[in-house]
Amino acid sequence: MNWREYVKNVTPYVPGEQPKINNLIKLNTNENPYSPSPVAKEELLRLAEDYDSLRRYPKPDCDALRDALSEYMGLAPEKIFTGVGSDDVICTLFTTFFHSTLPVLFADITYSFYEVWADFVGFPKELIPVKDDLSIDINDYRKENGGIVIANPNAPTGLSLPLEKIEEVLKFNRDSIVIVDEAYVDFGGESAVKLIDKYDNLIVTQTYSKSRNLAGLRIGMAFANEEVISKIKAVKFSINSYTMNEPSLRIASAILKDEDYFRECCGKVIKTREWCVEEFKKLGFVFPESSANFVFVTHPKVNANDIYKALRERGILVRHFGMERIDNYLRISIGTDDEMKALFSALKEIV
Ligand SMILES: *Cc1c(COP(=O)(O)O)cnc(C)c1O
Repeated sequence: MNWREYVKNVTPYVPGEQPKINNLIKLNTNENPYSPSPVAKEELLRLAEDYDSLRRYPKPDCDALRDALSEYMGLAPEKIFTGVGSDDVICTLFTTFFHSTLPVLFADITYSFYEVWADFVGFPKELIPVKDDLSIDINDYRKENGGIVIANPNAPTGLSLPLEKIEEVLKFNRDSIVIVDEAYVDFGGESAVKLIDKYDNLIVTQTYSKSRNLAGLRIGMAFANEEVISKIKAVKFSINSYTMNEPSLRIASAILKDEDYFRECCGKVIKTREWCVEEFKKLGFVFPESSANFVFVTHPKVNANDIYKALRERGILVRHFGMERIDNYLRISIGTDDEMKALFSALKEIV
């Protein structure tokens, strides 16, 4: 038999583009517009001095980072798992927990990678339609299932659910693993980490890519009770023991000491977002309330794809998903004030 007959055929996720165009204003992948903490640079320089240490494998358990996170979060290290961005972490969670014959539930409008992983791992899924206003109604998650995934705040809508609603989902689904993806929580969401000791079926994931300005280092984590974390680790150690590299591990631990910078950057992004929301309104855009570092906008008169193209011609990149229900929306990341001023000058010419 030819290998083509048994090769794994998959449809991969398509990330937002990273084009090599000079002076491009990049508002398409929700990266942080500000530099990483200066502590990251200090740690990199220290590592350069100690570069001989790179001969060695990193600690497979990521002990030092888990200890640092443990102190930072006030959570035992046994309740923490780290990986190469939350994409890596979430894929490991799906691989570990989603083997029921019942469908795993997630919203039809959410992080589109969930569907890709579902098909990759090969479990049944049920996409639960969000309401017409794009919000998630947790009553739709009261049915038999093989697991639940909720991004909170959700992407690409930016809408967040209050913690009581997440708790209702957990209460109603005691036998299922419930993953809450908190990639954007620091921009206005309410974290479910405090519920970990109360619900042994809860896993919360977070990332350094958005609110900690370090998408390039690929650092993500999961928080859950000891038993759940031990299951995740067993799967990780069945695939690749040394996932996180030494520079990422060291920098990730170091910047936790720079809480002021973290707060300052999140504060700036939120302030810019609040200003942008008013500007979008003035131009006639309509959008759900964002608790994230992006706004998901639609215009009643001008087609989203036309706006996308017109912005691109002017060197401004935003995200357009050619998907049913949201193909007339654009997801626009919050950049610096100057970048957003340039966006609104361009939009004034377009809409
Ligand atoms: C960006 C994002 C992630 C992945 O982030 P990593 O860079 O892999 O840590 C996960 N979930 C959502 C909803 C995201 O938007």
